Amino acid sequence: MAIIIDGKEVAANLRENLAIRVAEMNKSGVIPGLAVVLIGDDPASRSYVSAKEKSCHDLGMYSRDIRLPEDTSESSLLKLIDELNQDREIDGILVQLPLPNHINEQKIIVAIDPSKDVDGFHPMSVGKMILEQDTFLPCTPHGILKLLEYSHISPKGKNVVIVGRSNIVGKPLSNLLFQKQAWGNATVTICHTATQNLKEETLRADILIAAAGRPEMITGDMIKPEAVVIDVGVNRVEDSSKKRGYRLVGDVAFNEACEKASYITPVPGGVGPMTITMLLFNTVKSAEARLS
Ligand code: NDP
Repeated sequence: MAIIIDGKEVAANLRENLAIRVAEMNKSGVIPGLAVVLIGDDPASRSYVSAKEKSCHDLGMYSRDIRLPEDTSESSLLKLIDELNQDREIDGILVQLPLPNHINEQKIIVAIDPSKDVDGFHPMSVGKMILEQDTFLPCTPHGILKLLEYSHISPKGKNVVIVGRSNIVGKPLSNLLFQKQAWGNATVTICHTATQNLKEETLRADILIAAAGRPEMITGDMIKPEAVVIDVGVNRVEDSSKKRGYRLVGDVAFNEACEKASYITPVPGGVGPMTITMLLFNTVKSAEARLS
């Protein structure tokens, strides 16, 4: 039976340390500030944004919640970002993705000052990450590295297989995991929709990371015995027995996977709490840079 990697516990541990750093800054009159911009009314985005705000307050940080209507123009969003770039109370700017179709996502990401790019999506941050220079690492991949570290699982020399190649998860995570660093040194394979025989690939994984956004697509027979399984997927599936009409499942068929894996992250309660924690981590890092 697999050992469950408890993301909430690891996140709480990291947040305790962040709270100490925030309290230290508060003594010098600095309150790390995060601006969260949400366009439109997508329920999933709304709940992510509320969770981010609550976490900020819990740590003694300042959070500015900016909610704008779906028909907000690209130019007014660019103007807002420019104002936030100049704002001395704001150390981090997060624009919740996805954006409505009439707004060019890349244009918005590039407009954020790289020194406040706490999502780590700006091309400057991505370039620095690839060159292994100090920068804001993207939150979900960074959170996964922390989960492995806390569980004493070293990727060094392991075959890591990642299912998914998005800009926010698969692509940066693959890069971090093959870097010649304590958190890397793995041999990494990335799979996607053009991969010929997915099962053949996943069965070679000592560490299997599922980030495809396909409910329970990784079944027990696709997992190598004793593999470490990290489930990034968050999928809503209809469930009439629940009051809200759905339940959340990952990309991994959890019960089957537990029979094969040595370690596994649950959904919810695995990668999710880490993503928000690493956002707070980046905001604190940005505020500390302002102080120094
Ligand atoms: P995207 O939709 O941007 O990317 C999905 C990737 O998976 C694509 O590269 C796609 O391939 C690949 N893929 C999809 N279906 C298959 C398949 N059947 N076989 C092989 N590859 C496949 O998703 P994101 O990266 O944004 O998110 C992935 C999941 O992770 C989602 O469920 C999302 O909700 C969740 N997530 C969770 C976070 C957390 O904090 N827990 C944070 C971010 C995301 P191709 O490129 O060929 O289309």
